[in-house]
Amino acid sequence: MQVESTPSVVREIVRTARRDRAVVGVVPTMGALHAGHVSLIERARTECDFVVATIFVNPTQFGPNEDFSKYPRTMEQDLEMCKNADADLVFTPDTSQMYTADAETVVKVTQLTSRLEGAVRPTHFDGVTTVVAKLFNITDPDKAFFGQKDFQQQLVIRRMVADLDWGIEIVTCPIVREADGLAMSSRNRYLSAEERQRSLVLSQSLQLGKKLALETAATPAEIERQMQDLILATDGVVLDYAVVLSADSLLPLQNRPDSAVALVAARLGATRLIDNQILQFR
Ligand code: AMP
Repeated sequence: MQVESTPSVVREIVRTARRDRAVVGVVPTMGALHAGHVSLIERARTECDFVVATIFVNPTQFGPNEDFSKYPRTMEQDLEMCKNADADLVFTPDTSQMYTADAETVVKVTQLTSRLEGAVRPTHFDGVTTVVAKLFNITDPDKAFFGQKDFQQQLVIRRMVADLDWGIEIVTCPIVREADGLAMSSRNRYLSAEERQRSLVLSQSLQLGKKLALETAATPAEIERQMQDLILATDGVVLDYAVVLSADSLLPLQNRPDSAVALVAARLGATRLIDNQILQFR
């Protein structure tokens, strides 16, 4: 496995791999890797000849009062996990290699980013799309692998790729969870023991939504209300949103659709968690 921090060198390594007609896959991450990230690299390994993982804590996707400076950085362990998952190349730029002082270009998806995470974190998705566009340009992939965990993010990336006529296939991989249901996240390590216990209400609310859609005649609005009630009844959990929306557009649904996505976001102390679940209606 090669580890490289210079964009021009990465470009050259991928160009050489491409000469052998390799299908190139990229897995963008911010490091502090866990089994969810590993599942993306393993999926890329099954679908691609040359697998690039990227590790970059992207400053432009954090808001001014967010956790950029204390975001976990565990590079040595991350590289070990990439190696075990059989990545071919890990791109580990530092901030000055990704953003020159005179940079002034932003890639912006205008509408999909206005709701949910974008409403709570107004500059977040501009940072995500700009850095992912740069990572796509540097690694020139055929396929890119993202987690369903960040449901809105994978939709935003799909929009960007379609709108900019980028011939990259976006593959969305299932959410990897802890045994008790908590979606794996680099931020879970911030939780105190008590918060860790309380965090279970997020996945429980999604399970409730799944059951109501499948087993009752409840409408999306009624399901949302029951999910919200469950979360609001848990001490120490501050609800940002619990909603049931179109999985394609994130717009509200009329009546009962065939399927939808339930999305939740909540804060436990200083830690903000998100999770989601596809719902099938009976
Ligand atoms: P991050 O390092 O948090 O920016 O995440 C990098 C990629 O890993 C994103 O595509 C995430 O959606 C994905 N990811 C994060 N957590 C999980 C998880 N629990 N299961 C599957 N994918 C995940």
